[in-house]
Amino acid sequence: MNYNHVNKELFSFLDRSPNAFFAVKNMCDVLSKAGMTRLYEGASWDLEAGKGYFVTRNDSAIIAFRIPKADYTGFQIMASHCDSPVFKIKTNAEITIDKQYVKLNVEKYGGMLCAPWLDRPLSAAGRVIVRTEDGIETRLVNIDRDLMIIPNLAIHMNRQVNDGYKFNAQVDMLPLFCEKGEESDAFMGLIASEAGVAAKDILDTDLFLYNRMPAVSLGLNGEFIASGRLDDLQCAFASLKGFLESSPKDSVAVHCVFDNEEVGSGTKQGAASTFLKDTLHRIGSAMGRTEEEYLMSIASSFLVSADNAHAVHPNHADKTDPTNRAYLNKGIVIKYSANQKYTTDAVSGAIMRVICEKAGVPYQTFTNRSDMLGGSTLGNISQSQVALNTVDIGLPQLAMHSPYETAGAKDTAFLVEAAKVLFSSSVEGTGNGNYKLRF
Ligand code: ZN
Repeated sequence: MNYNHVNKELFSFLDRSPNAFFAVKNMCDVLSKAGMTRLYEGASWDLEAGKGYFVTRNDSAIIAFRIPKADYTGFQIMASHCDSPVFKIKTNAEITIDKQYVKLNVEKYGGMLCAPWLDRPLSAAGRVIVRTEDGIETRLVNIDRDLMIIPNLAIHMNRQVNDGYKFNAQVDMLPLFCEKGEESDAFMGLIASEAGVAAKDILDTDLFLYNRMPAVSLGLNGEFIASGRLDDLQCAFASLKGFLESSPKDSVAVHCVFDNEEVGSGTKQGAASTFLKDTLHRIGSAMGRTEEEYLMSIASSFLVSADNAHAVHPNHADKTDPTNRAYLNKGIVIKYSANQKYTTDAVSGAIMRVICEKAGVPYQTFTNRSDMLGGSTLGNISQSQVALNTVDIGLPQLAMHSPYETAGAKDTAFLVEAAKVLFSSSVEGTGNGNYKLRF
């Protein structure tokens, strides 16, 4: 398994995906190139066994699937997310200071570590909605150069800063954009020219800051990687690559990437939405299945919720559970939580262990310390729409929710291999606690 080759592809994907809109566009391009057919939720679906398809919602969530045969058993699904904690640029963004500086008004999207956003080159990317003759159209915009910075306050003006600091998003986190010139609304002027439209034709925007630092390898032997958005584009990338390289036999392979996991998943394109359920339903009806046959297929399906996990921190090794400790480069992390914040139970954990063994990749386990609340993820949220055997896994990483996170160089390739096995296999439930696993 050549993990350097996998990382080269991963880095290119990360660097070209400053936020969910770009991640989904890049995945669409890869799927089209691989010969998959694009479907639209607003059009009729004409599906054929032996073919692959994909559909997006809001241009920020995507589901791709491959139907091996008309009498498929169920669905083998990997779900991840493509959003990351970030600062969203507000509408009417410009704030002028002393008639000298222009800074931008931003607000938090999700729960980020604030400090590492300071003192580094940033830029803006997202979508603009443009007026057309008969309606509106979406254009993606990425100002692909070092453009802004959020400067720290000098230590001389805050001597206590190293004893701990409470960041105020309205005060501390606004990026410096330019010197005040003659022009009014220079920021929207820049966005409009990048979009190739007149500023007056931009009706609305979803624009976000992003960290300009590209993905890199580091460590004595290149054993670590660092990048923005590893949570969760690392899993989304591995899921897509495994999906494309798999050979589905008895079950439909489903690559699913949701938006808005970092803000609770409760949007039309989030894990709490009907997107996955609608798509599985439509596959069933397009393939001539009755409602009962659809429910039978769900009972013989398996979902891997793939969202990054916390590795043991070298400076804070005591923050991790005493017996379930994940390390970089030691493989896929199976996450457990008694209160079912993670969906893993003995059945789904056992199935995932078999998948990893079949793939020949290492796995490890994670639980939160019993005296610490962990984060949540999309696995248990999506259960309210499509309920099926689900395991929560992730790749081990450090500094989760920093704009520059660290992970292991080998682990992405491990997940690609496990995804290949997942998407090529099927899990047939007998309803009495027994399952036939076909590979
Ligand atoms: Zn995540």
